[in-house]
Amino acid sequence: MLRLTELKLPLEHAPGEIKATILKQLGIAESDLVSFTIFRRGVDARKSHAILFVYTLEVEVRNETNVLARCKKNPHVKIAPDTGYHFVAQAATSSAERPVIVGLGPAGLFAGLILAQSGFKPLILERGKAVRERTKDTFGLWRQGVLNPESNVQFGEGGAGTFSDGKLYSQVKDPKHYGRKVLQEFVKAGAPEEILYVSHPHIGTFRLVGMVEKMRETILALGGEIRFQSRVDDIEVEHGQVQGVVLASGEHIPTRHLILAVGHSARDTFEMIHKRGIYIEAKPFSIGFRIEHPQSLIDRARYGNHAEHPLLGAQLSSPRPALGDFIQGKPSTAFGSVQPSYAPGVHFVRFE
Ligand SMILES: Cc1cc2nc3c(=O)[nH]c(=O)nc-3n(C[C@H](O)[C@H](O)[C@H](O)COP(=O)(O)OP(=O)(O)OC[C@H]3O[C@@H](n4cnc5c(N)ncnc54)[C@H](O)[C@@H]3O)c2cc1C
Repeated sequence: MLRLTELKLPLEHAPGEIKATILKQLGIAESDLVSFTIFRRGVDARKSHAILFVYTLEVEVRNETNVLARCKKNPHVKIAPDTGYHFVAQAATSSAERPVIVGLGPAGLFAGLILAQSGFKPLILERGKAVRERTKDTFGLWRQGVLNPESNVQFGEGGAGTFSDGKLYSQVKDPKHYGRKVLQEFVKAGAPEEILYVSHPHIGTFRLVGMVEKMRETILALGGEIRFQSRVDDIEVEHGQVQGVVLASGEHIPTRHLILAVGHSARDTFEMIHKRGIYIEAKPFSIGFRIEHPQSLIDRARYGNHAEHPLLGAQLSSPRPALGDFIQGKPSTAFGSVQPSYAPGVHFVRFE
């Protein structure tokens, strides 16, 4: 597989132009191009009157060695790095022991998924409710001021950011390509495929709910188990070795392999861990602030006359169902009596 970088095309290029440019750059006939995929697509908006897409492509060709030799002076043609995810272990078929994961936010979800894909059949314990039931509780606080301390915006399946618009900007430096595995799993679970290559991917509010459910189904299909409303209140340790956990109900669950994926908000759990003498360390402090500008102002500053071009994500077009319909699982056709401030760019869809 070859990697082609810095392939620049105008904003409004025809889809066939990518292929034509590959053939030209590599000096090959169409019959020698087996396939290509977009690995990344950035935007070069330094000249707002001539905005360019900058592509990184993965290209499969016949006679790769010859093509590479012919292009050896071109710094933008290289062998593609291995970006695949490599499992570190596979469970022995005889293994009766199950790893236990506490928390089903992003950390617990991916720990569970990777362990399940590795054949370990993990047991995941989550203090909150399954994501759709949790949606009602979360909006119960936001709309009616009723707090459920165990099922809210922080606690429950999907974790703390489930009701955000799912911005995916982390792992800028990712030499082992772990972030790609995460994005690939998101796409399998229903995220738009373009998150794999656009420079500022986001998933979209409410779509996360269906994705979390699909990832849960995958874990279950691979033999994992998930128990909601199962708060871990204690960890049993003997001679420095974890022996099991105790739930709020008093139930004891034996395990020697425990992953705590409890997030930022479970202060009661941190206190318990600390009291148990388990080493615990504060994360380095980070602080962020948010300055809100109208999207149109930023788009005009970046893209000039192209400010409203749909390919630049500039026009707000947000697919979403109305909340009440989403909870009832029916398609939306109109806003409710309260007009949301984001109404102008919203079109209704049904998220499963
Ligand atoms: C409103 C909001 C919007 C956000 N938007 C974004 C965004 O767009 N993009 C982004 O990258 N990040 C976003 N974040 C940050 C992101 O959500 C967090 O970084 C992420 O959720 C941390 O994942 P985690 O799995 O470590 O912990 P959490 O998501 O906090 O999950 C921990 C889970 O553990 C469970 N738990 C805790 N204690 C116990 C216990 N004793 N027993 C059983 N279960 C327990 C909790 O119920 C919870 O479900 C947002 C956060 C918030 C609050």
